[in-house]
Amino acid sequence: MATAKRATTKGLEALFLDGLKDVYYAEKKILKALPKMAKGAESEEVAAAFEKHRVETEGQVDRLEQVFELMDKPARGKTCPAIDGILEEGSEILDEYKGDPALDAGLVGAAQAVEHYEIARYGTLVAWAEQLGKSDIVKLLKDTLKEEVATDEALSGLGEGGVNERALEQAA
Ligand code: FE
Ligand code: FE
Ligand code: FE
Repeated sequence: MATAKRATTKGLEALFLDGLKDVYYAEKKILKALPKMAKGAESEEVAAAFEKHRVETEGQVDRLEQVFELMDKPARGKTCPAIDGILEEGSEILDEYKGDPALDAGLVGAAQAVEHYEIARYGTLVAWAEQLGKSDIVKLLKDTLKEEVATDEALSGLGEGGVNERALEQAA
């Protein structure tokens, strides 16, 4: 099959490294956003969930730095317009629903959008690391992927366990 001629070939390893830089940038932005979301949350349980995941996110940044090390590359981020946009929507919720009984439902939803972005990215990175035969890296990325999935599930539990219902209350 004929393929289009290109001046250069970058390949899967370059794609993988670009993806790593993308999530590294994203995790660092998330690390800064989570305390603001915890501080803004109305209920103790939602604030505690954000704080718990902030601590996990610190560990995820460490894992990514280990992955860069294993790739023999400096740990560097690359602007991720997707996470910038998702976090911007979260801060809009914080501003626009301050004092509203629906605030926490909005924050939980915003945080789930973040987790879903991460799940998509880490899922792909795990598959590419497997393809590249980097089993030690696969393990590190899977550890983080598991935390993102567990966080998403915990957030669903909060929403369905009362946060969404409280959002129906009348604002004082
Ligand atoms: Fe993360
Ligand atoms: Fe991105
Ligand atoms: Fe996360």
